[in-house]
Amino acid sequence: MNRSRVLPGIAFAAVAVLLIAGLAWATRVALQLEHADTVRLALWRLDSRIFPILAREDSRPVSHYEPLYPPTPALTRTGTSINLGNVLLPSPLLSVDLPDWVSLHFVIDAKLGWRSPQVPNETLAKRLRDSSAGIAMTNATPERAARLQHLALQFPVRKWFDVDETIPQVEASAQQNVANDSPTQVSQGRFPNSQQAGQWLENEARVRSQTQTAIRGDNRSPDRGNTAVINYAPLPDLVAAKDMSLGQSYVCSKATIDDLKPVWRNSADGTEHLLLLRRVDGGELVLMQGVLLDWPRLREVLTDGVRDLLPDAQLVRDEGQHPDRMSALPVRLDAGDAPMTLFPLNTPLRWGLTFAWSASAIALVLAALGGWSLLDLSERRFRFVSAVTHELRTPLTTLRLYLDMLTSGLVRDEAKKTEYLNTLHGEADRLHRLIANVLEFARLERQMPVVNSQPVVVRDFMESMKKEWGTTCHAAGKSLDVSIEDGVPDIIETDSEILRQLLGNLIDNSCKYSREAEDPTVRLSVGRTGDDFVFAVEDRGPGIATRDIRAVFRPFRRGTNTPAASGGVGLGLTLANRWSKLLGGDLRLKDVTTGARFEFALPNAPCP
Ligand code: ADP
Repeated sequence: MNRSRVLPGIAFAAVAVLLIAGLAWATRVALQLEHADTVRLALWRLDSRIFPILAREDSRPVSHYEPLYPPTPALTRTGTSINLGNVLLPSPLLSVDLPDWVSLHFVIDAKLGWRSPQVPNETLAKRLRDSSAGIAMTNATPERAARLQHLALQFPVRKWFDVDETIPQVEASAQQNVANDSPTQVSQGRFPNSQQAGQWLENEARVRSQTQTAIRGDNRSPDRGNTAVINYAPLPDLVAAKDMSLGQSYVCSKATIDDLKPVWRNSADGTEHLLLLRRVDGGELVLMQGVLLDWPRLREVLTDGVRDLLPDAQLVRDEGQHPDRMSALPVRLDAGDAPMTLFPLNTPLRWGLTFAWSASAIALVLAALGGWSLLDLSERRFRFVSAVTHELRTPLTTLRLYLDMLTSGLVRDEAKKTEYLNTLHGEADRLHRLIANVLEFARLERQMPVVNSQPVVVRDFMESMKKEWGTTCHAAGKSLDVSIEDGVPDIIETDSEILRQLLGNLIDNSCKYSREAEDPTVRLSVGRTGDDFVFAVEDRGPGIATRDIRAVFRPFRRGTNTPAASGGVGLGLTLANRWSKLLGGDLRLKDVTTGARFEFALPNAPCP
């Protein structure tokens, strides 16, 4: 590369690298922010899917966790409290519509173990089904019974409470037996047999009924926060029946109910379970109530809900404080890294970034082209000035020398005089052509000249060309051969002045650059190819190197192997090319084995 272009090239490359690096950094940050925004939106969607369910489960009364519960407090029409005795209502949990990922509602009782309102014992289940009240038991399914049995096996009750030391024997034996128990037996508290269980319950009931007589039922008063009065009296007839046929009942008052919280628990076999849990502390009686969630199914439902935002998103257990953790569940949204591509163009930000990249690329290309042509222009100016200076100095020096000799009377011989005068003529011609070319180039740069098309007699035109250029060629040691091929009409229509200048420049070049050629003939011919008249100028000189072919038609460009002494400023072919366009034709350098052949194809039609 030209040395004068190295520094600007390096500066441009540095600016381009800075621009691209800055844009890449800004794109990266913008995409990360967009990704973070998408993650936040996805988290919001996930939480808003879970929170309503959490809220509903959290507000579920304690009593609903029993298959049957007393309708307390019951009032008369006048507002006085009424003891409804043995009146019981079926828990809504037996029939309420639940999402398919809500697997089981359960109670863990420090004394009675695991049970579920959705897994009533066989006797109760039968009674409820046979009842004339038409109680729906859609949620009392065998799958739920199996899940309860599994939980009871995997999670020993003592793990959940500071269990009273008097209970463990019952617990221990219950754990041993649970594998063989039916789900119904599990729900009964896993006593070795119903007789023991009945006895224990009866004792409990008796002790508690000493301090608790009123049956006031279950409520959660908003102005009392999480403290509720849940007074279950043992249902005397049921307990007395000792067959546990209608499930358990409690006596406790002023229980404190914690908020329902989502927690992970690993079972003995290492399986992860996602539970919603709350502690119900009634003093003597402490319960855990909760909901078992089907995590694989819930995960599927949740990830499906954000698939359009984050196709590769995953939900993973996380009990820490990760920023991408859901608020509703101890679960983190693993969305992967921010994508580092602008595609697909599905957001305004991505469109904006694409526009920014495109605009920068266009600006860089334009700056490069602008800079390049500026450098090219300044180089061309430099070349022009040095070429013109050289081209002016040489003929002027010759002119002065020969004129000095002639005017001083030193040359007396007539033949010598004629020779010197011919040289002077040639140099003056050279000067004239140079100045004419420069002026013509300047004129063409400023404005499009008017083309004056007129009928031209071909033979006369070719003869005049031979006359005009024959002498110049002769002075260069060449001969100009002019021919008209068959098929060319006598008269063609064109601007003969422009055509004359065009062909003149080509002939001048041939004479100038083929001096060393063995064949001294320069040929000017006109023929016909299809609809075109083809004027050709050919010589047997060195020709033009392939790598120079495009450049030589540009202004102030000369062939790389052309000696400076041959004279010229690199305007001859530029002008010839522009004139050819003016005449509506096309000037081309033909591929020939020896020398150079330029062809100008002139359409057989009036000039545009
Ligand atoms: P100039 O003759 O002033 O250098 P031109 O535009 O007429 O400018 O020609 C450009 C270059 O093309 C020349 O410098 C020369 O290298 C090459 N050239 C033109 N005509 C011929 C030819 N007939 N034979 C060999 N080279 C040629």
